[in-house]
Amino acid sequence: MRPADALAELLAGNRRFVSGRPEHGHDVSAAAAASGGQLPHAVVVGCIDSRVPLEAIFDQTFGSICVIRSGGHVVDRAVLGSVGFAVAALKVPLIMVLGHVRCGAVDATVQALRTGDRPDGDVGYLVDEIAPAVESIGLDDPDVAAKAMRAHVTRTVRRMRDVAGVPDSVAAGTVAIAGAVYDLDTGLVDLLT
Ligand SMILES: [Zn+2]
Repeated sequence: MRPADALAELLAGNRRFVSGRPEHGHDVSAAAAASGGQLPHAVVVGCIDSRVPLEAIFDQTFGSICVIRSGGHVVDRAVLGSVGFAVAALKVPLIMVLGHVRCGAVDATVQALRTGDRPDGDVGYLVDEIAPAVESIGLDDPDVAAKAMRAHVTRTVRRMRDVAGVPDSVAAGTVAIAGAVYDLDTGLVDLLT
């Protein structure tokens, strides 16, 4: 599948989801039908938020997308390696980064920067990784969390170029990287341009 077709399929799947007429149920017969092998058409990097189940909101079935989730879709070596595996071994033509409105990880980062009270340990790592997006907007902006969420998606999209081989594949037109935002209320996914 070409990158543009993969993106069109994800967006079409989101429209099916929003319309209330998804094609794919998640039943065991669909699992069995895909058990012989996989040819996924995208790897989606999203947040752990329980309200953003990626297979559901893109109406995708077993075998059709690889999914990587972390708090605020923060990237570490495991995420980069997983994207790299999806691209190199599974030949996915599309890498999508999906943020969402009212992201708790972004809100926590805004809060930490406002109060100077950075969470300890590995949660602090998430905050550190999201902080540049918040700082790029500025804490004085009344809409800082919403704008920082979008800026953080853009930064995460950029990080995908750190995956070995991806810049060359993008240049060759065999892989595309897209950033998008999910609306918790409407169920719609909007591409960031
Ligand atoms: Zn989130």
